Amino acid sequence: MKKEDLIPACLQLIQIDLSFRASLRAAMPIQSHRFFDDIESSGMFLPNGMLTPAAHSLIKALNLALPVVEKILSTRPPKQISKRASSYRAGVENRRAAHSKARKEPAPGLMKRAGSLARAIGSETKAIAHKRPKLTPEQVAARLAICGSCDQLRSNRTCAKCGCFVDAKARFRSQGCPLRKWPAVSAG
Ligand code: SF4
Repeated sequence: MKKEDLIPACLQLIQIDLSFRASLRAAMPIQSHRFFDDIESSGMFLPNGMLTPAAHSLIKALNLALPVVEKILSTRPPKQISKRASSYRAGVENRRAAHSKARKEPAPGLMKRAGSLARAIGSETKAIAHKRPKLTPEQVAARLAICGSCDQLRSNRTCAKCGCFVDAKARFRSQGCPLRKWPAVSAG
């Protein structure tokens, strides 16, 4: 396991793997737990692709507790660690590149956003009526991590392709990514 991969791999796993996040949180000093909670509520990245203040605080805490990070990561295959670290770095680069590109492109207009929201609510209502299972927090986090590095994400958190607010749409079991970037969800 390369030392330089520890924190990036950890940050990637925190975003996409709830059980990893829970194990790491439990092993970390208690004063760092609030940073995990803040990340859960406010996310790790700002719309401009930069880290949130909570993410900065968490990274500081992880650096101070590297032996803990290493121990928790050592439960994973070394190949997975370097893969996760590369994904994290690629995600950061993509977010920055996408943001600078997106800044030049307009966000979806009000009519498109309203139409998308109405259709999404209609589909979600039907999915609830058909008792399709709710998404898990891990599934929602995985979707949002993909949106976060997608060049269709606009600075107001709407998807240029479908017009939806991704933070809402990602929680809807009935919804999918128009570019099929999200992992498939079983219809239940
Ligand atoms: S829903 Fe799909 S296309 Fe839209 S921002 Fe997310 S990943 Fe990109």
